Amino acid sequence: MQTIINQIKRNRSFFLASHTHPDGDAIGSLLALGLALKAMGKDVQLFNPSHIPAVYRFLPSVHMIEQRLDPDAQFDVALILDCGDIDRIGGDAKTVCQKSLVINIDHHVTNTRFGDLQIIDVNACATAEIIYHLIQHLPVGIDCAIATAIYTGILTDTGSFRFSNTNRTAFAICERMISMGADPYQVAQHVYGTYSLGRIKLLNLALDSLEISPNGKLSVMTMSQRMLRETGTQAEDIDGIINYARRIEDVKVAALIHELPANGSMPKGESQFHVSLRSDGGVDVAHIAAHYGGGGHSGAAGFSTKANLNELKKELMDLSEAFSDTCEVT
Ligand code: AMP
Ligand code: MN
Ligand code: MN
Repeated sequence: MQTIINQIKRNRSFFLASHTHPDGDAIGSLLALGLALKAMGKDVQLFNPSHIPAVYRFLPSVHMIEQRLDPDAQFDVALILDCGDIDRIGGDAKTVCQKSLVINIDHHVTNTRFGDLQIIDVNACATAEIIYHLIQHLPVGIDCAIATAIYTGILTDTGSFRFSNTNRTAFAICERMISMGADPYQVAQHVYGTYSLGRIKLLNLALDSLEISPNGKLSVMTMSQRMLRETGTQAEDIDGIINYARRIEDVKVAALIHELPANGSMPKGESQFHVSLRSDGGVDVAHIAAHYGGGGHSGAAGFSTKANLNELKKELMDLSEAFSDTCEVT
């Protein structure tokens, strides 16, 4: 931590990036640290390769996050937030990193420890928790915008203080953030309060797609590009739907298979999929995701793969045979 503080104090220009298809933690952490560095008079560029989901566009200064990047741009330091793997920031951002001191700040168990310096705390409930501690060491106060960003990161990564990563620090920091101007009702209204009609229709299709493994321990939802088209929704509208599959009685692991837009030529019968995995705590889904080249946390993980949908489902169903009531899959 101290080495990183010194590097931040000593350097002038900073590139900050977080993972593709950002969640509240990826966006909140980016904004909180970006605003803190800006308040210190640093030159900052905030970047995310994906567009910002509508539910997070209320965050103060969210317009500072750019989706385009000049790969020739030069920065003293690149701060990569909430990424278990540097590939998750996209190619242009990786190119920028090659010319900077790279600092990796994250809380995923599968973190590859990329970069020159790291703060990886797998016990942190969110990257926003680590960012909060970091800001405490910087000569800058927490204003309402920073407080709202940190609060949103912790709220969303803990599933509104319900997931197994919810700890005392999550509540302690959020209490402080509220005293510094974060408004829990406003944040909740934006993040969870309003759904487009299309999103409700998408939920209907998702529930309809539910399949349960013969032993009842795995639930699988499938979302196709056609479903998104038919309901006029976007990938960001899928966020949170997997929790319905996870809540089913006796289910140990929920999988949501999301067909990604076709890019380039694919072998006949195959598509590109993102698979989200959630566990009730008994099965380590980060381990399963890592097996497929992805990663995450023991209770929430994901991976992307090219596959035939039926074969992918069968593979997951076969894996579920090993889910026991008490043991982790190894
Ligand atoms: P998701 O599958 O997008 O719902 O993400 C669940 C968790 O797994 C999050 O913490 C993600 O950051 C992580 N995750 C998802 N996909 C990947 C991937 N391809 N590589 C590494 N981590 C991932
Ligand atoms: Mn994240
Ligand atoms: Mn996170």
